[in-house]
Amino acid sequence: MAKARRKVKADPPPSSATSRHRLPATDHPLRYVFHQRPRCPDPDCRSGDLRIYRSKRHPDGAIERHVECRECGRRFILVVE
Ligand SMILES: [Zn+2]
Repeated sequence: MAKARRKVKADPPPSSATSRHRLPATDHPLRYVFHQRPRCPDPDCRSGDLRIYRSKRHPDGAIERHVECRECGRRFILVVE
């Protein structure tokens, strides 16, 4: 009975293991990123109590949100680039 020949896979070149430019988790300490909440554009209101009633994503990744201020009822469009 003939023995099946074992295929020996060659090790992949070391460059393929480092093709991703992603740093190991230890090199990425978690950072705090502070971002101000959107506010009503009415200078007499400036409330942060807003309601999103419509949301749309653009092909470039930007998000367009139609927002209504719960405080004064003013509506505006918020674009998150
Ligand atoms: Zn308002």
